[in-house]
Amino acid sequence: MLRAAVGNGESIRFRIDVWCGEMAFKDKFPNLFKIKINKVVLVSERLQSVKEGTVCWKIRSANMSQVLQNELDICISFLAEVLIVDSQDKWVWSDDDSDMFSVISAKKWLQQETSNSAVGRLEWCKWIPAKVNIFVWRAKMDRIATISALERRNIMIPSRGCVFCEYSPETTDHLFSGCFFSNGIWLAIESWCRIPNVFAFSIRDLVNLHNSVGFKGIKKVAFQGIIYIALWSIWRARNDRVFADKRLKVMEVMAEIKSLSFLWFRCRYNTIRILLSGNLGVTLI
Ligand SMILES: [Zn+2]
Repeated sequence: MLRAAVGNGESIRFRIDVWCGEMAFKDKFPNLFKIKINKVVLVSERLQSVKEGTVCWKIRSANMSQVLQNELDICISFLAEVLIVDSQDKWVWSDDDSDMFSVISAKKWLQQETSNSAVGRLEWCKWIPAKVNIFVWRAKMDRIATISALERRNIMIPSRGCVFCEYSPETTDHLFSGCFFSNGIWLAIESWCRIPNVFAFSIRDLVNLHNSVGFKGIKKVAFQGIIYIALWSIWRARNDRVFADKRLKVMEVMAEIKSLSFLWFRCRYNTIRILLSGNLGVTLI
């Protein structure tokens, strides 16, 4: 997991970032930190200077429940171990075995229950490249650079609408499940993979679709990868429009999804023959 190594504490958020122990304080002490604080408190603001070595904690002790008191005691005991030093904060990758980042350790972490809430977990698809899995994981958490996401970070974009339909605001859910362009892709995939109608109202519905269409075994694994590749290809088509004014049609994007699917699937499962049935059907043997 990615965690902060405290230096002077001036760039680490006290409640939200993972910097003391293996969880963010807001998750470790849910009662203590459930009160909304407008200001983002930094570690350096919460802890006094090195010289004083004390915790600056403004909380009313009157009427404190036992649960709250327990959380406060444990939290203060955690903070007693923290040492603020006169150097920049750092971000480091750490898992059980080493501090070195690797795709394997990231994949292990993504699949753990503790990696985050259910939103942050992803069923890794083994036959597609890591970059596609990671893209889907980020999209599922709404951490891709859509116009709406940029606006949330106070980056103003002249055009606020979806690049495909120029009608709705560009959000992750609209781009992948609400827009006519992505709906065209899902219709083509329904026909290609011979599945019932896709009813997806969010990207999470799409990421979990392979669990609900009735496929089992290798077909389920193949279908999961196809959905992930489709999400990735829709995003690439969107970027082509935004940055290169290249306006791909649904059929062209679909052709790319099919060719990447066959290429990557065959690389991973080279003993499995893939038979095309007409132009649309696919049979995995
Ligand atoms: Zn749209």
